[in-house]
Amino acid sequence: MKKNKTEENLLDKVVSLCKRRGFIFPGSEIYGGISGIYDYGPLGVELINNIKQEWRKEMFYRHENIFELDSSILMQRRVWEASGHTSAGFTDPLQECKKCHHRFRADHLSDQEKNKCPDCGGELMAPRKFNLLVETHLGPVKDESSLTYLRGETTQGIYVNYKNVKTSMSAEIPFGIGQIGKAFRNEITPGHFIYRMREFEQMEQQHFVEPAEAEKYFKYWKEERIKWYLELGIKQEKLRFRPHAKDELAHYARNAEDIEYEFPFGWHEIEGIHNRGDWDLSRHSEFSGENLSETDSKTGNKFYPYIIETSAGADRIMLVFLADAYDDSDKKRLVLKLHPKLAPYKAAVFPLLANKPELVTKAQEIFYQLKTSDYNPGPIAWDDRGNIGKRYYSQDEIGTPWCITVDFQSLENDTITIRDRDTMKQERISIKDIENFIKERLK
Ligand code: ATP
Repeated sequence: MKKNKTEENLLDKVVSLCKRRGFIFPGSEIYGGISGIYDYGPLGVELINNIKQEWRKEMFYRHENIFELDSSILMQRRVWEASGHTSAGFTDPLQECKKCHHRFRADHLSDQEKNKCPDCGGELMAPRKFNLLVETHLGPVKDESSLTYLRGETTQGIYVNYKNVKTSMSAEIPFGIGQIGKAFRNEITPGHFIYRMREFEQMEQQHFVEPAEAEKYFKYWKEERIKWYLELGIKQEKLRFRPHAKDELAHYARNAEDIEYEFPFGWHEIEGIHNRGDWDLSRHSEFSGENLSETDSKTGNKFYPYIIETSAGADRIMLVFLADAYDDSDKKRLVLKLHPKLAPYKAAVFPLLANKPELVTKAQEIFYQLKTSDYNPGPIAWDDRGNIGKRYYSQDEIGTPWCITVDFQSLENDTITIRDRDTMKQERISIKDIENFIKERLK
């Protein structure tokens, strides 16, 4: 679908805001950058941590019977052989231009583009398979025997620890294991900012269930996951499910649907919900020699649990939250309408005038009181530069939901004004009520 200019520009605007306000920087920037790699600045760290924390709360605190894991990035090479990543399964068909040597994913090229380079019009070579795993060597000698990989997905660490978690936590199926962590893929065409990276973070949960119940859990997790995005404020009309066609399913998958978001560059996957059948546990049993099967209590028959997976990328979802929240429809100000739970700063404190010591002292008292309170809502910003209007706008564009201003009335009756980012309305409340005000709204 053709996008209008405003929508196309949205990505550029988000990129520029992220750089300017310390959310996201290009990796190794002073050396000219490195393709598909980004660094998170102070506000980006807060935002992505808040996203991960909301996912953790959803999975491990709200649900029963889902256990958190933090497995290592480096694993035995055999893990990736068992998972199929070192064979055809994890390879993308790649076409290279004979003239400019740019490479393209064959499955991303339209029928007309399959023979001609989209960049220079040169002739494209026939597609060849390209493995996405990033290789490394462990130990002092760099040879075939020391070869291993940086993990291409977090989920294999879950399967490898299936028995450890099950036994140590006395878990019985149905139960889940989830984890957040870095994954690495030698993507052929990284791009669209943090949409497709070579080093990124995944938030994956694997639910181990009886085969007969797999489809029930598949439906359940589809609904649960879409609700999570909606509850954190993503616009409903920008989200949809896209079922995979039979010929598109991964070799192990019984059923798969993507949650897609309408980015400025079109509808694209942000999370996959997969019914992986018994592929993973049966393969790891076969390759490791460890029996990962279960016994049916009624029939005594052995079976491998089916796995329903929810697999999301923290960075890709961060781009969703940033693009969805970006609002410059009011010509006077740019507002990042992030859900308050995700906003990097929960509040900002200002003295109305920076050259009145009594206002500054009072504002500082409130600032430190909020920062050190037992109920710690998250980072609090301080600003005493320029005029008050500029300070409000500066907080609006980084998504700070509430700005607290200490004025002359504050000195008389211990009240302050608290301004709402979205409505721009100011309320006067008692200093002692600030914490409750924030607490109520963050519920
Ligand atoms: P794509 O078709 O976009 O390459 P995929 O189907 O290979 O994605 P999965 O292997 O299912 O993706 O990974 C699950 C999730 O991990 C994706 O929905 C996405 O959010 C995230 N993800 C995958 N690859 C990347 C990447 N290169 N950069 C950032 N996030 C990624």
